[in-house]
Amino acid sequence: MKAVVLRSFGGSEQLSLENVPDPEPAFGEIVLKVATVSINRSFDLSVRKGTYSRGAVLPLVLGADPSGTVCAIGKGVTAFKIGDRVAVMSTIACGQCQECRRGAAASCGFSRTIGVHRWGGYAEYVAVPMSNAALIPETLGFDHATVIARHGAAAYNFLIDRGRLRAEETVIVFGASGALGGFAVQVAKLSGATVVAVAGTDSRAAFARQLGADAAINYRSGDLVEQVMALTNGRGDDLVFESSGDPDLWPLALRCVAQAGRLVSCGAHGGGNVQLDLKRLYVGRLQIIGAAGVKVSDLDWALGAGARGDIRATIDRVYPLERAAEAQDYVERERPLGKVLIAPGRVS
Ligand SMILES: [Zn+2]
Repeated sequence: MKAVVLRSFGGSEQLSLENVPDPEPAFGEIVLKVATVSINRSFDLSVRKGTYSRGAVLPLVLGADPSGTVCAIGKGVTAFKIGDRVAVMSTIACGQCQECRRGAAASCGFSRTIGVHRWGGYAEYVAVPMSNAALIPETLGFDHATVIARHGAAAYNFLIDRGRLRAEETVIVFGASGALGGFAVQVAKLSGATVVAVAGTDSRAAFARQLGADAAINYRSGDLVEQVMALTNGRGDDLVFESSGDPDLWPLALRCVAQAGRLVSCGAHGGGNVQLDLKRLYVGRLQIIGAAGVKVSDLDWALGAGARGDIRATIDRVYPLERAAEAQDYVERERPLGKVLIAPGRVS
């Protein structure tokens, strides 16, 4: 098969299109003919550069969220058959640790990731564990399924499972125009909560409003905390969704949390080392909750919501497999508002 292989860390020139053996399904695995896979800044770009915090195994085929058609089935697979259309959860829980054993696989600290620690979807075919796959409803296309499987499922887990968001609450979503933040706005709205979106430009704030946010703030225009307090009768928000870890923004995010409220921390691409005002934390009886990883029921929920039209992906453009390096350069240079996909099954 054709695959884009990473043999050394570095720039996009390290991505080389090669002919490699087709994957064979191990016990409990299925092989997909890949329709679509997305480019994720947090995985693909940092893994390629060698800066990903949880390491990577070379040589590697990137691509954390492939979706496609089942074309081979390993022994012990009962849930899928040849021809099924499936999407994939990227996190493979270890199945052994204390969290896994008590049924909290999304909290596994020893998980591996498809496209990071084993070969992913920048290829014509990919083998994945059946326990990581979910059927795509008929009405949902592969492009949307790929994006929804990754970010819709994560937004659901982080807000509802980890953040315990309730319908009567207010939530503020930082990075609301990003892929994860955009789904957080939609999932929060769907749960019945009142949603304040925060983005870095007027046009990105307007985009978050289009996704359903009740209010949107450009944090570069005026005092962010003042604006949030004006929107919430001086109280702040019950839940703050923060995925950047930006040292300038994070202390402001903490100041937006209402008395006895919660902050979900689910990313650190903006730096990750931030100042924490402990007086604000304990006097305010605040909770800071870490969130990462999803479970397959989150994936099922997200694909169902996508098929019903309750949540939707924003897709910027689709590249053929041969132009994967160009696609990554485009993501890095332009920071597009929608997702950029690679479609190995499509010709250029
Ligand atoms: Zn585990």
